[in-house]
Order: sequence, then structure tokens, then C-alpha cells
Amino acid sequence: MSKRFSHIISEKFWSHVSEEEKQRLFSLFIIIILALIVTVANFVYKLFFYSGNSCFVCNAGLVAIVTLAGVFCLRGKINSVLYTAFTIPIFLYAYYISDFNDHPPLIETAYYSLWWLLGGLLVLIYFAESESLITTYSIISLFTLGFQLLKANHLFDPFSFYEPYVTHPLLVFVAFYGITIGLRLKLKRLAHRFTEKLTVINQGISKVFQDSGFSIVQIKAERDEDDNITNLWIEKVNNAFESSFKLNLYEVQNQEAGYVFNLIFRNHFDVNKTLLLNKKKTKEFYAKNLERHFKAHILKPEYNRFYIIFEDITRIKLKVAELEENKRRYKVLLEAIPDIFFVIDKEGTYEDFVIKESDLFKIEDANIIGNTIYDVGFPDNMADKIYACIQTSLKANSIETIEYSLNTHNGTFMFEMRLAKLTSHSVISIARDITRRKTTEFKLERALNKAEESDRLKSAFLANLSHEIRTPLNIITNFTRMMAEPDIDQLERMEFSDAISQNGQQLLNMIDNTIHLSRIETEAVEVHVDFCKINNLLRDIYNKYRPLIPDTKDIRINMNLDVPNPAFGFETDAKLLREILSILVDNAIKYSVKGDVSLGYEMILNEAVQIYVSDNGIGIPEDETENIFSRFYRIKNNINETTSGSGLGLPIAQHYVSLLGSELELKSVPGQGTKFWFTLPFREGKGFLKIVS
Ligand code: ADP
Repeated sequence: MSKRFSHIISEKFWSHVSEEEKQRLFSLFIIIILALIVTVANFVYKLFFYSGNSCFVCNAGLVAIVTLAGVFCLRGKINSVLYTAFTIPIFLYAYYISDFNDHPPLIETAYYSLWWLLGGLLVLIYFAESESLITTYSIISLFTLGFQLLKANHLFDPFSFYEPYVTHPLLVFVAFYGITIGLRLKLKRLAHRFTEKLTVINQGISKVFQDSGFSIVQIKAERDEDDNITNLWIEKVNNAFESSFKLNLYEVQNQEAGYVFNLIFRNHFDVNKTLLLNKKKTKEFYAKNLERHFKAHILKPEYNRFYIIFEDITRIKLKVAELEENKRRYKVLLEAIPDIFFVIDKEGTYEDFVIKESDLFKIEDANIIGNTIYDVGFPDNMADKIYACIQTSLKANSIETIEYSLNTHNGTFMFEMRLAKLTSHSVISIARDITRRKTTEFKLERALNKAEESDRLKSAFLANLSHEIRTPLNIITNFTRMMAEPDIDQLERMEFSDAISQNGQQLLNMIDNTIHLSRIETEAVEVHVDFCKINNLLRDIYNKYRPLIPDTKDIRINMNLDVPNPAFGFETDAKLLREILSILVDNAIKYSVKGDVSLGYEMILNEAVQIYVSDNGIGIPEDETENIFSRFYRIKNNINETTSGSGLGLPIAQHYVSLLGSELELKSVPGQGTKFWFTLPFREGKGFLKIVS
């Protein structure tokens, strides 16, 4: 409200004076208005309640003087207003002292005068420019006061009207004058010092403004009655501005800012919007006509003054764009590589990553940034190892390699991780899925081992073969020749014939096994499932092998049939089954000296048939139980040294059992005997159920 009032008065009466003057004039104006109220009230009061010409004239004069001061004030003449203060002693004289008054003044009137004079002094102290004016006024005031006291017979009165005497009007006035003038001088000195400092600062600012490498423009704002900015004028521009935008100071000074900036940047920079609406202190824009990027920094050091500093950021912008492009390329490149990239900091925390989805491995939760290597599922010792490699890589600027396996929902995967220093506090980790390579390597290694072993065994077999074939062939040849001799008896003839047939059988076995093996190798063995009467089959084998037990051995062969019905059977390949059982029974007899060789089967819950061959022979040491299924492998023992064999029986039997959908198992105690068995699914055909019904 007072601001608005001051604005109206200022605009109406003081438009030609400075802002500072306006403020002083307005304060003075308020004091005058108050004084006017007091004097008019006094005048009216005295008019009605006091009689006497002196009173009327004096009070009217007082009103007139204050009114005159008001007029001076409105006309902007501060000094004239101040001079009117000098009328106070005159009026006091006229009112209390002169002959115009019909009686001498009373002592208390000296105090009224004192208050009036102090009021005048205060106004002068506050508004007068020079000390001499104040001092002159003070001297006149002291004389007036002294004269009044003299007339009242109290000039030399040590005691004032009011005790104690320090309240003597002259003393009070002098003290007041002394203190206020002292304070005023002190303030003036301070103000002077500040002004000096301000001047230095302003000069500094001016220098910075002129010499700055940035283009700077100083703008003044013009406001309307409602304090809204209506216009922005350019006050000055610095040297850099002139040279950057090829404009001289005189061309732009006192021009409208909008017009000048439109000239420079066309419509790419709106100064009004930037200064008046933009809440931020900076604004970036691209001046297409100049092909340059700028950042405008806005400073507002005064209420109506702005500075805009134009920073040419074209190079930075281009650099950033270039970096962005590089980053994009780098990302594309990384994405094209089928590895997983992580950026890990010194402490082992993931900072960034690039993951491609591989068909083997999927990272379900890609939210790993911020987690550490200890949180993402590595076993602790592995995480420790990675941590150590990070430290080494950072310290020695080296590339560290670790291979590790990781269990995931999709299985176990092998990775090769390489760590290389990226910055002083982070490494790049490149994890490559090497599961396929490792699997292939592993398979190859196994295949190679197998091939080597097989080769070794085959060589051993071939070396053996001549012996294995020669021995029975020699026997057959010799005995055949001997049989032709005329002087042999019937018994000898039968012995020779037995030996010939036994060795012939052995040769046949060997040839059979070799044929089986080659058929297995060429994958030519086919499975023909048909109804097989198991009891008959076992009986055939029993009948075949019982007569083959050498007389030198004390072996009984027996059969255990769980379902005695001769029609009982199930669906399987009878030919393969016969081969398997022949091999097992042949071995059981071969590797036993005495005891039982049992051949039989058991039903398991009507769901499966477990077929077995057991003996009380020499048994198989535990560490050989796997080897015996390798081709051409034969355990080194007494029996094998004297009997022939190819080392092919068990591998063939094992393969055939697997073709029948089962697994050949064994249990053996060296010196006590061995049991081989396998379990075939009971596939009911024309078999078991039919018999039950
Ligand atoms: P071969 O009998 O021709 O030597 P096999 O492959 O049939 O070859 O058997 C491999 C080895 O397993 C035999 O050399 C033998 O040492 C051992 N073996 C097989 N069956 C038995 C068994 N029932 N009792 C003890 N040892 C056996």
C-alpha cells in the first residue's frame, strides 16, 4: 500500500529526480504530513479554547510554514524544506519571547521550545547534506532557548524545572546535538569507506566484464506501475561480445534487447522468455544461422539489471555427439560378440553389463548392477579367486583368465572369464560360454582314450590271435593225423576225436565272437522281438553245456525256473538272449573248478523277469569289474594262462543286454564265485496271462 502510494507520488511529482532522492523526499513528505496534522490540530484547538491574537497568528503561521515545506517537498526541493526548519526558532521567539506576547515566558515553555527545536534538529540531522547547516541551526536554537530562559529568569538557574539539573534545556540540547552529530559523522565515514570499496569492486567488475573471454551483455529492465517488466534495454556489451557477433557497442547500446538478439540469433533465442519466464539460471540453444551452440548464463545482481553470459559450447557439443556415437558403435560391437561383458569395480560390484541370450544359457534376472560377485551365485572360493584376479589386473594392468562352471536352472555351464583393466578403479570382465567347446574337448579326449585303449587291446588280440588260432588248429591237425595211424586203439581214437571236436568248438566260438563284434561295430545287430518260451530256451542251453563240462572239473550245472510251466514266456529277442546266456554259462564253467553253475530266472512282481547265471568259481577282483567289459580285456590269472579266450564275450553280452533294454550287473567274491544278472521287462504276449487263465 505504502509502496503503491510512494510510487504514485514519485511518478507524479518526482519523475525527474533519482531513485535515492525519491526515497528521501518521500520520507520527508511523510514527516511533513505528520507535522501538518499536529499543527492544524493545534491551530483548531487553540482557536476554540484560547483567546488572544498572538496565539491565533502564531498557530496560523505554523500551519502556513509546514504547508510551505510540503509544497517545497512536492516540488522536490529538499534544501528548501530544510531551510523552513529555521523558522522554528523565529516562531518560538514570536510566540514566547517577543513583546508580541504580553507576559514573560514561563519556565515550562522553555521545555516546549526544546522539543520543537530538537524536532527541527532531528530532521536536519537526518536530511541535511552539510554539517554547517546543522551547526548554524543549533547555534540559533541555543540563542533562542537561552534568550527565552533569560526572560523567564532561569538562564543561570543551576536547577532545572525538573530535577535534576542535567535536564536543563540548554544542556539537553547541547548533549543531543553532540551525540547525534557525532553519530552522523561516524555513519558518514563508514558510508564513505563502503562507497570507496564499492567503487573498487565495481571497477573490478567492469574490468572483468570488459576483458572476459565470454560474450557478456548488460540489460536493464523497465517496469510498469504493477512492477511488471515491460521492456528490456541493452546497457552495454563487452569486447568479446562485439567481436563474436560483429556488432559495436554503439550499434546496440540503448536498443531493445529483443530486437538486438533477433538480429544476432534470428528466432533461436528469445531474450524475454529466457529472462522473464525461465526459472533456471541457464539456457542452451542452437543458433542455426551461426551454426553454433550456446549456453546462456543469466545473472541478476540488481532488481532491474541482468547480465547474460554467452558461452560457446559448440565444441563441447560436437565432442559429446562424437562420444555418443562412439559409445553407440562400441555397444553395437559388443552386442555383436557372443560373449557376456561386465564392468566390475575394485570392490567387486557390477557397474554395467552387456548380455546376449545364448541358447544354452539365459540370465533370468538381469538386475545385477549394484550387486557384488559375492551375491550372484559363485561359490565363495570362486568369488575370492575372481576378487584376487580383479586386484591383480588393476595393479599389474594384466589380463587374468579363470575357467569356472556355474550351475543354473538350465544345467551346468562352463565359462572362461577374462579380466582386463578398464579404468583405475574398474575392470572389464568378458565371460565366454565354453560349455560346447569343453564338452566336445571332453568327448574327444574320451574318444581318443578309448581309441588308444581299443587299439592297444586289438594289437594285443592280434598278437594273441596267432596263438589262439594256432593252438586249436595244431591240436586238430595233429590229432587228425594221429587218428589216421593204423595202430591206435578205439579208446585213443575216441580221445582224439573229443579233443578235435572240443578245439573245433573253441575255434568256432572265437570266430562267432569276432563276427558278433564286427556286427556290433557296424551296427548291424537288429532286435527282433517275439514271444519267447524262456523255460525251453534255458533248457536248450543247459543241454548244450552240460556235456561240455570237462571231466577234470567237479562242476554241476542246474536250472532254476520260477514259473515251471513250459508254455510260460514273454516278448523279447530270443536269439540275443540265447547268445547272452551262452556267453555267461560258458564263462561260468570256464572260470570254475568245482561247485555249482546255476542258470535261472525269477519273476519280480509280474512286472519283470530277472535272469541270472552264477557259479562258485574263482571270482573277479573288485578293481577288475569295470575292465572286464572292455573289448579284448582278459584278467591275468592261472585259468586264462592255460585256457584260450578272446576277451570279447562280456562286451558282447553287455551290448546285447542293453539292446534288450536292460543292464548287465554282477556281484563277485574272489575265491567264492560270481553272479551275473539282468532284468528284462515282462512284456506279456501270448505268455503269462494266457497261462493263468
Ligand atoms: P574271455 O572269457 O574270452 O576271456 P570274456 O569277455 O568273456 O573273455 O571275459 C573277460 C574276463 O572276465 C575273462 O578273461 C575272465 O578273467 C573274467 N570272467 C568272465 N566271467 C567270469 C566268471 N564267471 N568268473 C570269473 N572270471 C570271469
